[in-house]
Amino acid sequence: MKYVIEHMEEGFSEWVTLEYAQIIRDVGKENLILTSLPDDTTEESIPSRLRQLGLQWTTEECIQIDGGLDATRVCLLDPAAETDLTPEDHQKFDYFVFGGILGSHPRVDRTGILRKKYGFAGRRLGSLQMTTDTAIRTTKHIIDGQTKFEDIKFIDYPEIRYNKYESTEMPFRYIVDGNNEPILPEGMLELIKHDADQSIDDLLM
Ligand code: SAM
Repeated sequence: MKYVIEHMEEGFSEWVTLEYAQIIRDVGKENLILTSLPDDTTEESIPSRLRQLGLQWTTEECIQIDGGLDATRVCLLDPAAETDLTPEDHQKFDYFVFGGILGSHPRVDRTGILRKKYGFAGRRLGSLQMTTDTAIRTTKHIIDGQTKFEDIKFIDYPEIRYNKYESTEMPFRYIVDGNNEPILPEGMLELIKHDADQSIDDLLM
């Protein structure tokens, strides 16, 4: 099974880099490709952390990879699709395409750009917005692990506490780990805490 991320952000923020790094660790570098990077992208434009993990990337659009895809075998993971992804979709598709888009609250339909451009069959992962790494983790459970969506344990809008007095609500749905904590990319908790400290500092300046 191949996971494809159409990169739609400008450059690589720390947040996006942490998400992509976690996805490579989760699905394996040979099963992931980042597509639609700007034409002038070189190996040096890719964050060193992603290069070290062996990220495969291309300036081609997703439809052009591997010598040209058969569009009928490609599924777009789309929060606005009418049908939810099921384990049976394993037989129908070889490639799963995701928007390399940072979440926004309320949700802005940027996945719609991919929907209109390619016309792939769309599948939804429930009604709530997930981060790209959570969407890929969920797809992997359903497709590779043959687990039904309703059997995956999620937490919605978790509160991330970053010190004794302050916390922030993450406006997304996450899979939980064995301790019922949301699974975040490695380093994300520290980044959220750092960003929060910075914005508090901004207020104090
Ligand atoms: N506001 C964004 C939009 O344009 O829809 C949400 C983007 S989401 C952070 C990044 C990607 O994860 C989406 O493009 C989609 O591929 C996948 N995704 C997230 N939540 C999903 C859901 N509930 N169902 C299907 N795909 C989802």
